[in-house]
Amino acid sequence: MNVLILGGTSESRLLAARLSQDSRFAIMTSLAGRVSDPQLPEGDSRVGGFGGADGLATWIHAHAIEVVVDATHPFAATMSGNAAIAAASVGVPLLRLNRPEWTAGAGDVWLDASTPADAARMVESFSERAFLTIGRLGVWAFAGSSRTWFLIRSIDAPVDELPSRHELVLARGPFDIDDEIATMREHRIDVVVSKNSGGAMTEGKLVAARRLGIPVVMIARPPASPSDHVIDSVDGAVAWLRTRL
Ligand code: NAP
Repeated sequence: MNVLILGGTSESRLLAARLSQDSRFAIMTSLAGRVSDPQLPEGDSRVGGFGGADGLATWIHAHAIEVVVDATHPFAATMSGNAAIAAASVGVPLLRLNRPEWTAGAGDVWLDASTPADAARMVESFSERAFLTIGRLGVWAFAGSSRTWFLIRSIDAPVDELPSRHELVLARGPFDIDDEIATMREHRIDVVVSKNSGGAMTEGKLVAARRLGIPVVMIARPPASPSDHVIDSVDGAVAWLRTRL
């Protein structure tokens, strides 16, 4: 069965690795090509946009794809929307592999933001020193901030304008809880800004914030696009795909 995995996440790499071990699947992982040193999955991969939903539909048809797995990041809303349109137009089933959201627990102080711009307004209203851990996309929303100093962490440097007072750290997770605590202490951080990405790779910052009593401005996920089936684990996705063989 020819499977297209829309990737760019650790789950997509895990799924590609699992399906590669089963000769009944022929998989192709697609990456946007945004990071300079991408972690390539097992099996075949391609890099770069398809040219919108129409381009993706044409690609699916031309490569005789039988199932599309949208394993993109929960905040990659455009790609998920295009996948929904393209899969429906070609008549190919679409599985959404979506990791569970983080939820606040005892000891967490979370302030809910709907967008990066909303988060920027909140941060500016009370923070002197913020830890901006939203990746490089969306950092532009904080560019107008004059009050707050930012520790900005992303894999590649943001291309957009940055806030005037900041330090940029380029790093790729996973991040250890103790290291996160040390980073927040060293920089006297008074708020952590995060997307609700979910997943264990970057959860350490939330545990660190809880232990230090630091609030987290949590940016909510964009609305989900329609799909034929939604699964929140790689095991579940493999099992579902096997039922389609
Ligand atoms: P996006 O805004 O939803 O997509 C913008 C455009 O990038 C899409 O229309 C598509 O171009 C292209 N694209 C995105 N994902 C692609 C993929 N897997 N394969 C081929 N083309 C892709 O996406 P984004 O938020 O920039 O994210 C880009 C990639 O980074 C995704 O693969 C995502 O899984 C990963 N990522 C995103 C975030 C995040 O916070 N957004 C975090 C970690 C990883 P065309 O219209 O030309 O097809």
